[in-house]
Amino acid sequence: MQTVMRVAGALRLQVVVRGAGSGLSGGVVAPPGGVVLSTERLGRILEICPEDEIAVVQAGVVTGDLDRAAGQYGLRYAPDPASADFSTVGGNVATNAGGLRCCKYGVTRESVLGLEVVLADGTLLTVGHRTIKGVTGLDLTGLFVGSEGTLGVVVSATVRLRPLPVDTRTMVVFADSLASVGTLVQAITRSRVQPSAVELLDESSLRSIDDNRGTDLARRGRAMLLLQTDGHGATAEMDELTQVVSAAGGAPHRLEGEEADRMVELRRSGRGSLKDTWRIGEDVAVPRSRLVEMLAAIGEIGARHDVEVGCVAHAGDGNLHVGLSAPMRPGEVAPPPRIHAAADMVVRTALDLGGTITGEHGVGALKRPWLVRELGHRQLELQRAVKQVFDPAGILAPDSFLASDGTRRRSR
Ligand SMILES: Cc1cc2nc3c(=O)[nH]c(=O)nc-3n(C[C@H](O)[C@H](O)[C@H](O)COP(=O)(O)OP(=O)(O)OC[C@H]3O[C@@H](n4cnc5c(N)ncnc54)[C@H](O)[C@@H]3O)c2cc1C
Repeated sequence: MQTVMRVAGALRLQVVVRGAGSGLSGGVVAPPGGVVLSTERLGRILEICPEDEIAVVQAGVVTGDLDRAAGQYGLRYAPDPASADFSTVGGNVATNAGGLRCCKYGVTRESVLGLEVVLADGTLLTVGHRTIKGVTGLDLTGLFVGSEGTLGVVVSATVRLRPLPVDTRTMVVFADSLASVGTLVQAITRSRVQPSAVELLDESSLRSIDDNRGTDLARRGRAMLLLQTDGHGATAEMDELTQVVSAAGGAPHRLEGEEADRMVELRRSGRGSLKDTWRIGEDVAVPRSRLVEMLAAIGEIGARHDVEVGCVAHAGDGNLHVGLSAPMRPGEVAPPPRIHAAADMVVRTALDLGGTITGEHGVGALKRPWLVRELGHRQLELQRAVKQVFDPAGILAPDSFLASDGTRRRSR
């Protein structure tokens, strides 16, 4: 990695770092004439230390493999993007990935203690700690997390592990509308119970799973909430959530064993792909108190732009993945403008509700148009100045959100 960066620097070649390539914001699109630097062969778990509850892993380790390896010591790596079985720890660090369990355990940032990073000039820099606490100097570890390959190449990470929960409880609630599921989520938030997963699927997502897996979820309701609690208090917490859901007008249905595991697996990877359909996937987040308004707005936006909308949400975090689709018409070679217009409205509505343009997928190349609207010019200038310090020649991630327009796409 160091040699590649030195050579790239000397030849003024632009570099994009690639983990598993599962990112959804166009962050690994190769610059013309540039270098795609893969972490595929950085695939070793270097250390698991049960006494310190940490692991040291190379960047190309698949996240689910780390989690399973930690499981042999009664521990787990908590951040669990739905892509955990193929995305990498380095990619998760670079995007600050979220996931199903993050509403209880926090996103990737909360589990990263230290990093080894190769800088644009080929220097190997070590930041952070292997201690749980540590506040020496500026938090450069936090700066690299979520930096989307703009500041350096993450080659290894020291991550925090958590005890495997002694017990996990699961519940599903089917409802006749998305709005009523949104209301349930708000009642759950107000209850002060801390679930380990609060996942929402709308009717089109349920249908997609049914078509792909032969289930009958859409027959049971027009929206579904999947809830989990874990730890020593899992049963007591689920009992309380059962009361909360019932009091809010929902019909709780507890799942056990394989049935529970299967429902979680269907949520993670049960949906199929659409044929002969244009589709744009949006990723926004809103304060949880505005979730019901956001869900209502998404339906209205779909109707106004004649676009089908599908919604899956890490609802416990207010993070919504909105799929906007329309059938391909003869002669069309690109998604019709009305899908882009609908996507634009979704992002603007999230901002208007006090939310953000990306909850977990990152800005990449695709979210650049809305960046200034969220950050403002002054903050964007400051962020670009930070990039200038780490990568003065602008060779890393040339099309990223931090590249000034003058440094974009000028590889030889
Ligand atoms: C089916 C599916 C489900 C998904 N579910 C989730 C989810 O629940 N939560 C979520 O957050 N995301 C999710 N994603 C998106 C994606 O998996 C995450 O963004 C993931 O973190 C990307 O990891 P990767 O290894 O594939 O990185 P890549 O896609 O290869 O890269 C992503 C970005 O990180 C940079 N990068 C990668 N590795 C490094 C490195 N070592 N050093 C510096 N920069 C690097 C790249 O340059 C790029 O900008 C999902 C994607 C799919 C396809």
